[in-house]
Amino acid sequence: MVSAWIRAIAAAVEEHRDQLTQLDAAIGDADHGANMSRGFTAVLAALDDFQPSTVGDVLVKTGSTLMSTVGGASGPLYGTAFRAAGKALTGPTASPQQLIAALHAATAAVTQLGAATLGDKTMLDALAPAVTALEEAVFQGADLAAAVADAAKAAEDGAHSTIPLQARKGRASYLGPRSIGHQDPGATSTALIFTALAGVVAT
Ligand code: ADP
Ligand code: MG
Ligand code: MG
Repeated sequence: MVSAWIRAIAAAVEEHRDQLTQLDAAIGDADHGANMSRGFTAVLAALDDFQPSTVGDVLVKTGSTLMSTVGGASGPLYGTAFRAAGKALTGPTASPQQLIAALHAATAAVTQLGAATLGDKTMLDALAPAVTALEEAVFQGADLAAAVADAAKAAEDGAHSTIPLQARKGRASYLGPRSIGHQDPGATSTALIFTALAGVVAT
């Protein structure tokens, strides 16, 4: 299932490549679509003949590949996130609780590397609410498909919530108040990542 998730992310990145680039053109340097596309193209190649022994292996490989192929801020940030999630998943399968723990590890890794807090107009504004929504839904007894659908919705809402914010981290912060009124590209790609997971879990 994890490899299917990664393939679904790669497909979503290609589909939304221009959108990610346009969002980054408004408040950054217009390369987020290209960065994500380069990274996930390399990830697909790296996973091609890869024999994972745990669920986490695929995620660690994904993270390492993103780190070594994506030059922008998003490469190390997504790289560390996927690596941290992967390192938390050491079994042949993952329970919903283990998935939640892995996503908490990913959030902590992004926070540690990027030093952003909620509301700084970054990928964290989609990631953190998605993990909270997933945890909440599982706690309430939802099945995994419903819980991940909630997480994807929370990530999309989180990405949308960055529009009125002023960026306080990353390249967009150089614009100061002129960063207001645009959706954060990294929060948008994070929403794609959760929507891809929802699609894979639902099938
Ligand atoms: P670059 O800004 O180097 O060109 P990208 O365009 O690929 O890199 O990625 C930009 C995205 O990275 C932003 O939209 C934001 O979501 C995310 N980002 C940048 N800095 C940080 C940070 N310190 N913490 C969390 N996310 C960040
Ligand atoms: Mg950029
Ligand atoms: Mg750049």
